[in-house]
Amino acid sequence: MRDGFWKNLPINDWTNKEWEGLCDGCGKCCLIRLEDEDTGDIYNTDVHCKLLDGANCRCTNYENRRDYVEDCVQLTRENIYELSWLPKTCAYRLVAENKPLFDWHYLISGDKDTVHNANMSIAHMTTSEIHVKVRNLPRRIKIWPGEGD
Ligand code: SF4
Ligand code: SF4
Repeated sequence: MRDGFWKNLPINDWTNKEWEGLCDGCGKCCLIRLEDEDTGDIYNTDVHCKLLDGANCRCTNYENRRDYVEDCVQLTRENIYELSWLPKTCAYRLVAENKPLFDWHYLISGDKDTVHNANMSIAHMTTSEIHVKVRNLPRRIKIWPGEGD
């Protein structure tokens, strides 16, 4: 990946490796989200998608995930400007909003563990959706660090 690609180069000039490499590994986009039908507001829970490894925040079957999780959203160079539910700390959202990456992002710190050490990931703090009844999800709403107003 080229130095500072996310701030120095147009997004359409990034290689696929750079596009994928922008992810900070926080895992927050793999949380189960709830929508308030009246307001349209989206709330995160502390429950994660059945395919997520809750310890390292990685999808356990990324290549074939759509076979198991139909509504998994693929981030693209086009839709990151429209996905209002993306975490405020998400590197793709920050780029879409023309904001700098946080200093705990590994592209800044040089260490993929800093997202965890800074308490900005969901590692070891969630439960798989396979263990939680749908009716109990509202009780699992959680505002994660970095997501408050
Ligand atoms: S929320 Fe954004 S930065 Fe975090 S894991 Fe998902 S895509 Fe990567
Ligand atoms: S299928 Fe994989 S990438 Fe998609 S939400 Fe689930 S764990 Fe995340």
